[in-house]
Amino acid sequence: MLWDNHMHSNFSGDSDAEPISMIKAAKVKGLAGMTFTDHLDLDYPAQFGFFDLDIENYYPLQRKLALEESNENFTVLTGIEVGIQPHVAEQCNKIVNANPYDFVIGSTHLVDKWDPYFDSFWERGSETALLKRYYESILENITVYTNFDSLGHLDYAFRYVKTPSIKNDTHKPYAEIVDAILKRIIQLDKALEINTAALRKGMLGPNPAPSIIKRYHELGGKLITLGADAHTPTDVAADFEKLPDLLEECGFKEYVVYKNRKPEAYPLR
Ligand SMILES: [Zn+2]
Ligand SMILES: [Zn+2]
Repeated sequence: MLWDNHMHSNFSGDSDAEPISMIKAAKVKGLAGMTFTDHLDLDYPAQFGFFDLDIENYYPLQRKLALEESNENFTVLTGIEVGIQPHVAEQCNKIVNANPYDFVIGSTHLVDKWDPYFDSFWERGSETALLKRYYESILENITVYTNFDSLGHLDYAFRYVKTPSIKNDTHKPYAEIVDAILKRIIQLDKALEINTAALRKGMLGPNPAPSIIKRYHELGGKLITLGADAHTPTDVAADFEKLPDLLEECGFKEYVVYKNRKPEAYPLR
């Protein structure tokens, strides 16, 4: 009985899913609960598409639905996934604080205003140099912005790498900067998110890779959150059956669910 604490609905620019369809899928899959974490990506470049969150309606409508659909066996929580960029940090802070969210994911979707999802990101230099810059920008982001509970999909940019050997080599060549990121999260008492969407994007493990999860544990990291990053009902809790073995191997027996911005521990099995 796991929770899926990272998913999107049609409040996100890249999802057409009615919120109720995500809830129904989570119930059918036998989850104990779920958290909506629709995208807040302020100043997302228009050339890449429309990404504005309907801030006025998001919290009230999702909260109303969460209350209606929760029962003694199943809980729906209301969260948000902040796409951090240094120049919008203060604005994100205000929006997050305006409503009592259960859970806030801090993610890096843009690096110097370029989106790794698109080829144009990769046409600007060597893959490894751009990936190093990706990690640096995460560290910059969580230096200026700390109003989040879990660091979303660290090593996410690798999903879109073309060279297979580089795509799954997300730790060793960047060990120093990855360590700095992990130490920063631990110092801030934040969680590390384990995001299974990577497995649907041709990666061998979740984001981040098991060796990074292991390293987080070694450094004293205790809090992990789980999410499939579903944008459709089919992907809710996708590949979650792989998580208990994989995470135990990395030193974890428990994961946490944030309720009212506070972590609550649950056993992995
Ligand atoms: Zn994301
Ligand atoms: Zn997401």
